[in-house]
Amino acid sequence: MPYLSQRVKDISESQTIAMARKSRELKASGIDIISLSLGEPDFTTPQIIKDAAKKAIDDNFSYYTHVSGYVELREAICKKFKRDNNLDYTAEEIVVSTGAKQSISNAVLCLVNEGDEVIVPSPYWVSYLELLKLAGAKPIIINTTLETNFKITAAQLEKSITPKTRVIIFSTPCNPTGSVYSKQELKEISDVVLSHEDLYVISDEIYEHINYVGGHQSLAQFTGMKERVATINGVSKAYAMTGWRGGILAGPKWLAQACDKMQGQFTSATSSITQKAMHTAMELDYDKYIKPMRDAFLKRRDLVYELIKQIPGFKTNLPEGAFYFFPEISYYFGKSYNGFTIKNGTDMSMYLLDVAHVALVPGAAFGDDNYIRFSYATNEDNLREALKRMKDALEKLK
Ligand code: PMP
Ligand code: GLU
Repeated sequence: MPYLSQRVKDISESQTIAMARKSRELKASGIDIISLSLGEPDFTTPQIIKDAAKKAIDDNFSYYTHVSGYVELREAICKKFKRDNNLDYTAEEIVVSTGAKQSISNAVLCLVNEGDEVIVPSPYWVSYLELLKLAGAKPIIINTTLETNFKITAAQLEKSITPKTRVIIFSTPCNPTGSVYSKQELKEISDVVLSHEDLYVISDEIYEHINYVGGHQSLAQFTGMKERVATINGVSKAYAMTGWRGGILAGPKWLAQACDKMQGQFTSATSSITQKAMHTAMELDYDKYIKPMRDAFLKRRDLVYELIKQIPGFKTNLPEGAFYFFPEISYYFGKSYNGFTIKNGTDMSMYLLDVAHVALVPGAAFGDDNYIRFSYATNEDNLREALKRMKDALEKLK
């Protein structure tokens, strides 16, 4: 066995990426897999963004930039925060990265020491726990359920805080549950945060524009919170730019400087071409470019919700944002087909991959294996066919 660090041995492979790889392999071997595993818009990047990138190449915008992104880009991001979220950031408070994933990694590595406690409402996004492991943090999980639409309350948060708590990390709109915190709920959370010294929040708002219940609410909007919050955003989801690798962190200047230092050792800036593309994205007209994609996601959500209702034993909330369903499936535990018995979400994912040829992700990756997650960021025909195949496969379980 070649030598590997304990660090890498201790973390798990990203389950979303692992399932996507598995379904690609099966597809390559000729099996007709419908992949609902990876949360990735099927839309193409708007032409105007692609043109900006082509122009950047032709203009030889091809040198290293400032690690945090070139200044005019960061100024455009500040304008976006003001316009969309009523947040007053300056360019020194912004760090552009290679994706929300890197922005979160930067924030975790800069805010957390070995042994610090980090509060993570569950279900959580797949990478949070592994990144915390890398930082040596102790995750404190707050479990939520379908009955409370998977949201934590201020009282639950208060109860979980100890003198060792440094950070809270969560997403709204939430991946995997689609839950969206209201302004009032966020205000109550911010009151708890502000009542503790040296307590910070990594607020993952990457699904900001994929919201079906009104305007996005940022946690940093409340008085005093800008100093306490790393607001995470990026271009992957709303602009259909997953492969471009562009992420954003906005936070207090001391944190932005620390993230710049960290990123300066890991990757430097993201691609200069991507930065030009992001610059155009920040200035896009929402109604013209983003809303049509968001409306298509909403239509698909409604379609899938109707189809799920016809599947016995799938219990789900109506997601208010993002593009995932996270059904509870314990009804099927103990049921078998062809000698294979379903005991948890991991078994269910394997079963649906083998029998229905539909790829999804076990709930275990998000903290609860009584669930499975699937993305509806694909066209309606695919969704109809996938749900039909799943229903047929589930009917075989006795
Ligand atoms: N946070 C959440 C909640 C996500 O679902 C994802 C997946 N895209 C990310 C962060 C990372 O996004 P990016 O592609 O910008 O790294
Ligand atoms: N965020 C997406 C998901 O949850 C993409 C996968 C990833 O970045 O890990 O499926």
